[in-house]
Formats: sequence, structure tokens, C-alpha cells
Amino acid sequence: MTEHTPSKKPIYYYAILAMIVLLLLNALVFPQLMQNEVKEVGYNEFLSMVDSGTVKEVSRDETTQTITFTTEKDGETQYYKTGIWPDETLVSRLSDAGVPFTASIPTQASPLLSFLISWLLPILIFIVLGRFLMKRVQNGMPGGIGNALSFGKANAKIYVEAQTGKTFDDVAGQDEAKEALLEIVDFLHNPDRYSDIGAKLPKGALLVGPPGTGKTLLAKAVAGEANVPFFSISGSAFVEMFVGMGAAKVRDLFSQAEQKAPCIVFIDEIDTIGKKRDNMLGGNDEREQTLNQLLTEMDGFDARKGVVILAATNRPDSLDSALLRPGRFDRRIHVELPDLKGRTDILKVHARGVKMSEDVDFEAIARATSGASGADLANIINEAALRAVRMKRDTVEQADLEESVEVVIAGYARKNAVISPKEKRIVAYHEIGHALVAAKQTESAPVHKITIIPRTSGALGYTMQVDESEHYLMTREEAENKIATLTGGRSAEEIVFGTVTTGASNDIEQATRIAKAMVVRYGMSSAFGMVALECQNNPYLASEGSLTCSSDTAARVDAEIIDIVEKAHQRATQILRENEVALHKLAEHLLERETISGEEFMQLLREIAPAAPAQLNA
Ligand code: ADP
Ligand code: MG
Ligand code: ZN
Repeated sequence: MTEHTPSKKPIYYYAILAMIVLLLLNALVFPQLMQNEVKEVGYNEFLSMVDSGTVKEVSRDETTQTITFTTEKDGETQYYKTGIWPDETLVSRLSDAGVPFTASIPTQASPLLSFLISWLLPILIFIVLGRFLMKRVQNGMPGGIGNALSFGKANAKIYVEAQTGKTFDDVAGQDEAKEALLEIVDFLHNPDRYSDIGAKLPKGALLVGPPGTGKTLLAKAVAGEANVPFFSISGSAFVEMFVGMGAAKVRDLFSQAEQKAPCIVFIDEIDTIGKKRDNMLGGNDEREQTLNQLLTEMDGFDARKGVVILAATNRPDSLDSALLRPGRFDRRIHVELPDLKGRTDILKVHARGVKMSEDVDFEAIARATSGASGADLANIINEAALRAVRMKRDTVEQADLEESVEVVIAGYARKNAVISPKEKRIVAYHEIGHALVAAKQTESAPVHKITIIPRTSGALGYTMQVDESEHYLMTREEAENKIATLTGGRSAEEIVFGTVTTGASNDIEQATRIAKAMVVRYGMSSAFGMVALECQNNPYLASEGSLTCSSDTAARVDAEIIDIVEKAHQRATQILRENEVALHKLAEHLLERETISGEEFMQLLREIAPAAPAQLNA
């Protein structure tokens, strides 16, 4: 015997079932009822048949206003029917002829069954089909015709997760943000304590930071810690095809939230609706209405009830200032890219659910991933686990992690890509050029790894530099050294092959960016001094700033940038010329091994040129 598990059948399942039943009835039962063909005759014919005595039985049906009668010929019953005429004499006529007559229906299925079949079933089928179609339409076209059908009734896709299942334990690093949010958690735990004193908590807190740093995660963790319902909606969900729909959704959201208070309303990516209202051409009426509604709602509800609004954005600068004034999102919680310790912790958090080999060194991985966001790190752990499976191992090892760092940061290793030996040679010299220039400059970070295994991202090889400790400041010398290191690749090509290749495009771009920042932002050029020539549009999306100087000055800025890069280039070339022996030896070594570690590189370098430190001071 098998056990039946109750399964939830989709609604169209029932519709199809009903159809099948109907078809079966049609095919098997109805023909039985209708087996005898009924012949329609005129009333006068009926009367004459009664008079002639051929009629055997008569019945009168009030509902259909017909008379059905039968005759018998050679033992076979023939059915007839005719309409009813106002006829006083019919009864006496029938009794005279000795015909039995009734007012019932001679051969009919049970009235209840016929009622069900003829009335309820079609209605049911229509209801079921209608619902099914409605659903399809609504799912198939969000914001389209489905919403048009339910116009006025905002069907905000709000989901209440009674428990998000996330706690602050799931968020590593971000201690400052957590601290700021703890107050909100405490408020949600016992709002009375705050209202007794008369304190009003901030209605809203805005989580601000670059993508992937855990803003959404933090909001969920607050809900989990406070153990309250969590209404989450993305800003883009408010933007509708019809003007007014977004505003209706906002109203809906807040009325739902107030019923469930204390609770958290989380508006993700709030910049989609919270953009500055400006009078630019082609303004978005719908968006403005939605924003206005949001502002009104935030003013309208009573914070003491315990509805806390959290919002997240990576473009705080583009938010309407009305949103940021006290009483609305007056708190800003910065969620920054994690530092070394934060990265180590994040790796550990995500490694909790993965079988890790015991000697895994998370700190080494964290060191190699400066600038990676929490999402990147989560991805690195997952890629490492995937690689371990591919390698048919049952624990993740350091090598998996190291490989996945490169996968996530530089694209998949393209091991089977064919590169001609000549090109490979150029790449090897190029990379050693970078590494050598870096190593020969005291302020430069030592190289961590050099490889000429190409990546799908397009890089043919790369030199990974890792800082020993976290840096928050960069000195002018460091900046200059960085540029020199970047130009080192091209310099090596020039020295060894007497020509240049396209391989340096990315280096050139980076070098130019640093040089430009030195001039226009950091006041590191002698020509301009401490004058800011650029305004930064968005510090979180690392977008390009725009120059604020006259076009005359802009031309001089360009000249200055060219000068800085060119000087660095010359310095790199000089360093490489002085160490040409090492350059050749190291490049040959790299060509042979394809990948060498930083220590290996440094050891070789020391063996080749033991007098290196002396040269540096010269
Ligand atoms: P954001 O909303 O800031 O763009 P998310 O909160 O969606 O970023 O983060 C994406 C994922 O990255 C999370 O689901 C989580 O797995 C991981 N993550 C990001 N930051 C952290 C962190 N500080 N600790 C642990 N995991 C993190
Ligand atoms: Mg997010
Ligand atoms: Zn390069």
C-alpha cells in the first residue's frame, strides 16, 4: 500500500476534470435519455390522432409548455411532441378516447441531477476558467493588462516574512552599521519604554553604500533580531504603467504595515522613486506622484506605533532632499566595503555552511581581495565549493579558494586557449616588467602572484599586488610608484621587443585615472596645488567626476596628466634597463612555469641581483 500525500492541485486541474465529466455524461447518459427520437407535430394532428385512438399515453410539461405523447405501432413506441394550445376540451376528449394522461415528464433523469448538469456545471466551469485566465494574465504581464483589470485596487506585491531567518550573526563586519541599527531593534522590542518617556525614534533609516555590501541583508537581519514582520518592496515595484498606481501601492503598503505594527517596512533601491524632483524635460509624473505619496505617508503615520522604515540605496546623492529631512529618513547608516578584518569575517560566515579543509587560511584570501564586496566574497566561497566538487573532493581547500578569487575577480581561467609562443613571450615580459618595477620601488606593495594563464575576461596575464596592511591614505610617492608599475609592462615590451602591443590598454587606463585624480582631486601636482578641479558625482558608484574648471585649465590639466604618466614611464624604463638581466631570467622562468608566487619571484630576484637594495638608494 502506498500512502497518499495530499497534494495541492492547480485550479485548472479541476476545470479539466469537470470538462471530462461533462463529456462523459454527454457521450453515455444523455444519448440514453434521448434514445427515442421525438417527432414534432402540429396541434391539429395531435387532436386527430387522439380522436382516431392511436395515442397511447399523453403527458404535459408545464416548464417547457409542450405536450409529449406516444403511439404504438407494431409494438414499437413512437414519441411525439407538440405545443400547448388553450384547449378546454382536451381533458374530456382524452378521457373519451381512454388515453391515460399525466402532467409529468415521461422519461427524464432525476430533476436534481439535470439541474446540476444544466445549470451549475457550466457556471462552475466558467468561474474556474475565468480565475485561471485572470491568474495567467496577471502573472504574465506585470504592470500590463493584468493590473488594468484590477485598476484601483493596488495589488502591491508585499511579502510579509514573519521571520526573515537572518540575524546580525549572518552579517559580518559592518560593526558601525549594526550598532546604529541595534537601537531600532531595541525600539521594536519594547516600544513602550520609548513612548513612556516621550521619545520619538527616527521613523526611517537610510542604508547607504556601494552594491553588494549587505544593505538588504542588514535590513533583514534587523527584522530577524527584532522578531517582527518584514514588509519588503523594491522601489522599482512602485513604478507602474498608469499614473496613480504607484501612489495607491504606497498607501496600501502603509495601511498594511500599520495593521501589523510593530513591523519593519523595507524599501529597497529607493532611488528609483526617490529621485530629485526637477523640472527637466520629460519628467515622470507617475514617479513624482509616488514620491509625494511616500512623503505624505511618512509624515502621516505615528512613529510611536512601531513602524520603522528602512530604505537602501547606492545613490544617496540623487535622492530628493525632502526625503532626507528630519522626520523622514533622518538617519543615514553607512554600509561600506569591508576592510581586511571584515572580509575575513565575511568569508568565515559564508564558509559556515561549506565543508572546509582545516588548514584553510581565510586571512590570506581576504588579503588578496582588497576592494571586494560582501557579495563578491560570498561568491568566492561558492565558486571554491563548486571547484572542489569538480575536483571530486569532499572538502574545500586553499587552492580552491585561491583559484576562485581569480575566477571571481578576473574571470575564468582559459586553460585551453591557444596562444602562440611568441605572444606568450611578450605577455611574460610584460608581466615581469610590472612585477620588477613594483619590487624595485620601496613604496610599492610586493607582488603576490604573477601568471600568464589567460582569463576569459580578456586579460592575457596579470600581476596581482597585495598590500601588507590596509591602506586608507596614499602618499604622492605611492601614487607615482603605482603609475610607474602600471607602465612597467609596456616598458618591458619596448626594451625587449622594440615595439608596443595592445596588451597595455588596461594599464594605460588605470595609470591615467590615477594621474588625473592626483591633479584634479588630491592636489598633488605642482602646477595647480590644492585646488579641486573636479566634483565627484557619486562616491559610491565610483563614477567619473566632472571637471569644474574652464576649458583653458582643462587643457593644462591634460598636459599635467601626460607629464606625470610620461615621467613614470621613463622611470619604469630606467629601472628595467638597470635590471635587464633579471628581467630576462625572470621572464624565462615565468614562461616555463606560467604561474609563480610572490615569494618565488622575490627569492629569484634576490639570487639574480643580490645588490638590489644598494641600487635602490642610488
Ligand atoms: P546590497 O543590498 O548592499 O546590494 P546584499 O545585502 O543584497 O547587498 O548582499 C548580497 C549578498 O552578499 C548577501 O546575500 C550576502 O550573502 C553577501 N554579503 C554582503 N555583505 C555581507 C556581510 N557583511 N556579511 C555577510 N554576507 C554579506
Ligand atoms: Mg540590495
Ligand atoms: Zn599590464
